[in-house]
Amino acid sequence: QRKEALTKDNLMEGILAGNLTALSSAITLLESNLPQDKVTAKELVSACLPHAGNSIRVGITGVPGVGKSTFIESFGMHLLQENKKVAVLAIDPSSEKSGGSILGDKTRMQELSQQSNVFIRPSAAGDSLGGVARKTREAIFLCEAAGFEIILIETVGVGQSETVVHSMVDFFLLLMLAGAGDELQGIKRGIMEMADALVITKADGDNIKKANLARREYQNAMHLFPPNKNEWIPKALTASSLTNTNIDKVWQTILSFQNQTKINGWFKQKRQSQDKYWMNESLKELLMADFFLNSAVKDRLKAEEAAVLKGEKSSFQSADDLFEFYKQNR
Ligand code: GDP
Repeated sequence: QRKEALTKDNLMEGILAGNLTALSSAITLLESNLPQDKVTAKELVSACLPHAGNSIRVGITGVPGVGKSTFIESFGMHLLQENKKVAVLAIDPSSEKSGGSILGDKTRMQELSQQSNVFIRPSAAGDSLGGVARKTREAIFLCEAAGFEIILIETVGVGQSETVVHSMVDFFLLLMLAGAGDELQGIKRGIMEMADALVITKADGDNIKKANLARREYQNAMHLFPPNKNEWIPKALTASSLTNTNIDKVWQTILSFQNQTKINGWFKQKRQSQDKYWMNESLKELLMADFFLNSAVKDRLKAEEAAVLKGEKSSFQSADDLFEFYKQNR
């Protein structure tokens, strides 16, 4: 029965009809490591591609506690009022090591998760960041084929995952706290340079003054960054998810970005370069797997490592020899 329900054609039909159960099952197939599921997942992604692309993909990041889930809840509710269908996907780097998660627990975004026209999917656990990233990128296509117009990709700003998210979104939103130093927030300058907009969160009550001050400081700081090729000037805003202040302004900012970059051609160009990037990433993954999963290569690798440790061979020589060996034994 279950097998019957999970055929590619059934799922495809469900996805195109905007059926959330079908979408969910399809993403589960993407996450599966069973060879048969992988085949079906690949077929599904290919079948969805012609129906994908028609959305705005927004990355949202910031340190734990900055207010990401509260913001997404309030932002998502606003988008629903604008009659949009909203999907929230998460990339959670914590699940890689601990199996636990910073982002994925079900108590988050409680109100939003109960609405129709909303799809929320936590990160798959127990995978490498690269693996989660690839699956999330494919999940974006599935969500788009299911008619979702705004895809929010949430990640925690603690490491590599922001870069990965940046490589799959149109617009990158960085949430920040007022009053805490950048280093304290673990936000590196490079991350700030990637942001298309920066939102100072929790701008309510006693915090308003501090938030406005921080906004001005960040706006000034961002003017010093090298100009973007897409001619977009990154914006700094304040917002409160608690009082719903400026949530609409964030959306307006994203819309004007979309408008401007669609007119000057950068929207499409960025997506194309992301396609190219992900093709190359996938290729690297395949090559690495072919190399490192080759059992003859595995043995030879151990031997070469031992030789390097003993000082018998240089690391470069060993790498060259290994690669020659691989070419002859693949
Ligand atoms: P996340 O870890 O980035 O997802 O942060 P959360 O959304 O879980 O928020 C962390 C804490 O900040 C929670 O206690 C929230 O209630 C609080 N918070 C979030 N947004 C706001 C806001 O706009 N104003 C105020 N005053 N508190 C907020």
